[in-house]
Amino acid sequence: MKTIGLIGGMSWHSTVTYYQLLNSMVNARCGAAHSAKILLSSIDFESFRVLQETGRWDVAALEFGRLAKALEGAGADCILLGSNTAHIVAEEVRSVLDIPLLHVADCMASHLLANKIRRVGLLGTRFTMEAPFFPEILGRHGIEVLVPEESSRARINESIFSELTKGVFLEETRREYVQIIEALGAQGAEGVILGCTEIGLLVSPEDSPIPSFDTTQVHAQAAVDFALE
Ligand code: GLU
Repeated sequence: MKTIGLIGGMSWHSTVTYYQLLNSMVNARCGAAHSAKILLSSIDFESFRVLQETGRWDVAALEFGRLAKALEGAGADCILLGSNTAHIVAEEVRSVLDIPLLHVADCMASHLLANKIRRVGLLGTRFTMEAPFFPEILGRHGIEVLVPEESSRARINESIFSELTKGVFLEETRREYVQIIEALGAQGAEGVILGCTEIGLLVSPEDSPIPSFDTTQVHAQAAVDFALE
């Protein structure tokens, strides 16, 4: 079994989910007392939040590159960035590594193709919803990405930083997400990407009016496939 290098703490609430998923998926595949081989580097989320707010993606790229390289040096066979937003600097991180970085959008593209989804809504931080990486990578596979309108993007972003990344999951917020997903469905989205690693902790597949695709689940599954291949 290969060792998965995970950069987490973005926020730690979803890193807990990554840790549980990686272990339970390995155990489901391998049985007995098997569990995942994981090297975790968990950051102080406030420092990354401030870098996002101040637009210092150059500093974030250097810092994630340094952490990823340290995991590689410690024996990791691949790297996962446990935040969609952090993928804004994925190429810079990849450039310093001799092991693969499993990009969340590549993993999601394969998963959407397997589910025959050609037009998909995207929820995430405003950085993720407005960054080119999801539309570009999914576009290469013929998948079109729709994002919510401006006021909904602002509300989702606000809820991520003031609630979800603090471990606060409110029924009222869940209802707002469901309405936003409904609007994406009305625009022709055949499914929705829960493109922030904490959204899956708020919105379950049963809550969503159209099929939902949780990046944390899909990313963890791709890492386990890699570790066991
Ligand atoms: N975990 C979130 C994501 O997947 C947002 C928090 C952050 O890293 O800024 O984008």
